[in-house]
Amino acid sequence: MDFMVKNDLEFAQFKNMSGFPELFHVVTTRTGGVSPQPFSSLNLGGNTGDSEAHVRKNYQLLSRALDIDLQTVVSSHQVHGTDLAIITEAPLRSCPFPAAHALDGYDGFITAVPGIPLMVRVADCVPVLLYEPDRKVLAVVHAGWKGTAGGIASRAAVLMMEHCQCDVKKIRAGIGPSIGPCCYEVRQDVADRFSNAAGKNRFLMPEAAENVFSLDLQEANRQQLIESGLEPGLIELSWLCTACNSNLFFSHRGEKGKTGRFALIAGLRC
Ligand SMILES: [Zn+2]
Repeated sequence: MDFMVKNDLEFAQFKNMSGFPELFHVVTTRTGGVSPQPFSSLNLGGNTGDSEAHVRKNYQLLSRALDIDLQTVVSSHQVHGTDLAIITEAPLRSCPFPAAHALDGYDGFITAVPGIPLMVRVADCVPVLLYEPDRKVLAVVHAGWKGTAGGIASRAAVLMMEHCQCDVKKIRAGIGPSIGPCCYEVRQDVADRFSNAAGKNRFLMPEAAENVFSLDLQEANRQQLIESGLEPGLIELSWLCTACNSNLFFSHRGEKGKTGRFALIAGLRC
């Protein structure tokens, strides 16, 4: 990923999404906001324990830096599920403070309509951006371990093909910062939710202790997208671990649950 600063806010961007003037996207970082520790400083999560005034101010700073109207941003109360909403018009119930979400129960969005930014919020879960430049269709996805086990990123790609006539060979993917295998130990119950047995793939590896595995959510999403037909060369992994880089990104595990949220925001310019 590349990093850039605008109005004192630092953003990360996928290199493989840079060649399309009609598409904008950012992964936010912690920098440039107003929230105090442990939410310092650009916390975009409403139900984290941070004050609503701080979060609201952070969204205003974000809106100014990105030159987007918060009233048009689509987000949802996320539930670690695999449901995606295909967005064809701006939200009916606008959300100037996107903790008051227009939607509930969706962990991903797809749109082909310019002027409707899509947003998912994360703090260890994987933010995934998909884009098909010929059809000009994008998807943003929130993929924690449950969403990844349910194949939510692949489901997004399939919906782009089936409902938006996207060519799977032209879909690009950006797999953003999340907790890495270096910092993510899971037990047998989580390991069992991934179809391939541990040791037979590159994302679930046994640790020294019995029934303990390290889980690589970014690689799991990459493999699922390849199995869905995406070209490996069009998939960019960030390789950034949120827990190892908790100075830059919020990490739920790395900070023992007391932290904020960062966001993937993407849309088509009007
Ligand atoms: Zn790490």
